[in-house]
Amino acid sequence: MDRLREATTWLCDMDGVLLGPNGLIPGADTFVERVRERGHGLQVVTNNSLFTPDEIVERMAKVGLSMRPEEIWTSAMAAASYVSDGTRATRVFAIGRPAIHDALSDFGCVVDASTAEVVVLAETRNYDFDEFARAVQLIDQGAAFVATNPEPTSPTLNGPVPGCGAMAALIERATGVAPHIVGKPNPGMIRSGLARLGVDTAQAVLVGDRIETDVVAGAQAGLTTVLVLSGVTTLEEVGQAVTAPDIIVGSLGELVHLL
Ligand SMILES: [Mg+2]
Repeated sequence: MDRLREATTWLCDMDGVLLGPNGLIPGADTFVERVRERGHGLQVVTNNSLFTPDEIVERMAKVGLSMRPEEIWTSAMAAASYVSDGTRATRVFAIGRPAIHDALSDFGCVVDASTAEVVVLAETRNYDFDEFARAVQLIDQGAAFVATNPEPTSPTLNGPVPGCGAMAALIERATGVAPHIVGKPNPGMIRSGLARLGVDTAQAVLVGDRIETDVVAGAQAGLTTVLVLSGVTTLEEVGQAVTAPDIIVGSLGELVHLL
């Protein structure tokens, strides 16, 4: 608990932590309010690569959570940061929604479907055969293969639909090249998020609902980890997991008195 009291930056997963299937998870608004009162930093770290920061802020506002675009770090942004060289424009071919295209352009990458050095695969609801064919050809010619997130499915109101992880497996099967997956459980996503804030790992806490992705990524990046039971992982599953969280609470609201 002392480590929580010393924390000044909160990295929160989005789905299952702040947002549930029926909107805001009770207490999440009180938590965010308290973080603001204390002058602490807040960053939403999500594997969701469908939405731009502005779209996520809008989604949050609809359920009464006031966030700023700079407080959002998605696997699309982390992938763009991973791919970008910093000194010159990396040539990329990307599959996904504006979330990945905007992020790549923000990090100085340029789209070049004929000579791309990197193929970046993200989530979309409109996967296109011709784009997959191009991706396969580019990887065959030596382009690197990067995927934003590992989830095999993505939940929708009609049930699960194929996710980035499943579509990445399709390309891997066609090329024999496994993707570098940027999203959690890759601790690189946590490190790049912290680097963006200029915050040291010792001051930061990772809050997530998936023990195998959120907690693993946070722990491997050296952060204190909190598992909330308001999402996917149940208390029974905690015992079987390889990595244990530092603290387990029912939901974000239970952390309020510790801030
Ligand atoms: Mg989650």
